[in-house]
Amino acid sequence: MSSPRNHIIQCPQCGARGEFIVWDSVNPSVTPNLKDKIISGELFQWKCPQCGRVWDINYPMLYHDMPNRQLIEFRPTPDDQPRDTRPNPLYAAFIRNGYTIRYAYTLEELIAMVKG
Ligand SMILES: [Zn+2]
Repeated sequence: MSSPRNHIIQCPQCGARGEFIVWDSVNPSVTPNLKDKIISGELFQWKCPQCGRVWDINYPMLYHDMPNRQLIEFRPTPDDQPRDTRPNPLYAAFIRNGYTIRYAYTLEELIAMVKG
């Protein structure tokens, strides 16, 4: 249930284009290496193939930890923006099945939750 999509990113510094893989959802039971890439921050970084500069690209993602019955929804929100703390109604069935639902608003919060 880990689902990648390819995006083309243009470097704001030099204008070169390169591929960036966006994961809408990550299931660590299926792709354990992605858990490590979240914890290292690599999943949300794009390195320009030309000038080598690394850019932080935080995007919404769902972390679905089945053995621990845990969902973490990443809702990246800049510090100066209000946080959308409304629960996602799509998860009602998960809650009925004993899942814990959490929301992370910064990469630091997401990393702390994924580490457990
Ligand atoms: Zn560049």
